[in-house]
Amino acid sequence: MPRYAYVNGRYLPHEEATVHVEDRGFQFADGVYEVVTIIDGHLADEQGHLARLDRSLRELAIAWPVKPPVLRLIMRELIRRNRLRNGTIYLQVTRGAAPRDFAFPKAPAGTLVLTTRRVSRFGAPKQLDEGVGVITIPDIRWARRDIKSVALLPQVLGKQRAVEAGAFEAWQVDPDGTVTEGCSSNAWIITGDGMLVTRAPSNRILSGITRQSLIRLAAENGIAFEERSFTVDEAKRAREAFVSSASTFVMPVTRIDGTPVGDGRPGPVGRKLRQAYIQYAQQGPSVR
Ligand code: PMP
Repeated sequence: MPRYAYVNGRYLPHEEATVHVEDRGFQFADGVYEVVTIIDGHLADEQGHLARLDRSLRELAIAWPVKPPVLRLIMRELIRRNRLRNGTIYLQVTRGAAPRDFAFPKAPAGTLVLTTRRVSRFGAPKQLDEGVGVITIPDIRWARRDIKSVALLPQVLGKQRAVEAGAFEAWQVDPDGTVTEGCSSNAWIITGDGMLVTRAPSNRILSGITRQSLIRLAAENGIAFEERSFTVDEAKRAREAFVSSASTFVMPVTRIDGTPVGDGRPGPVGRKLRQAYIQYAQQGPSVR
């Protein structure tokens, strides 16, 4: 089956989809993105992802390339053409192609690209049964981590270190010893006395859309929750840990730098939140 990508008004076979060499996304990482999951034909947290896209664009003074309702139609059309029932849709907006000059172009014509990826399951059974390992690394990113920018080089290097260490994710750590977040996920712990903890949103982290929904679902499920920073040491002493993102939902973390978390097995709070999130996501807008 041919797979399509959307580029600036056209649905093109994926392998023929290209942008200009002077696109500012390519030249300067002058762009933003979102990843939205489709689960059993339903869009998970679509509204939240589009709201964050709006915020990222505003923070960088990049205009919406099409109006939001049009973007929603493009998303659905691409999902339909690619017959996607389970997977992710990637959206990228850049300030567009212009002669290479650092300052904004006078008349920017933004670039809009959408691609999809099929996913058979959100987390391999072995990862969900046994949990995954994370390593910890210094956070070397810029001071506007709240913007979902395509400038991801620190995360590329961090994920590579994780892969080389046989880990699933790398938790980035600020100079004060507190965990900021994973390279492509938010970091969570459950303390010895059963408190669910994740860092408060600020310019030090990307406030995950999955994160925001999990906070609401924790409240609905009577799980005590505290929004605060935690250190690597505290995480190693936690009862449970997990990471959250649009494409993994909730993934249990059972090793931090090789140290087992709790009894070294995925715990009940993470499991409960994963189930609750999946149930919620399956009630999202249908794309059929
Ligand atoms: N933090 C970072 C740095 C990320 O890249 C991601 C995934 N895009 C997240 C957190 C999780 O965000 P979301 O739940 O919106 O996928």
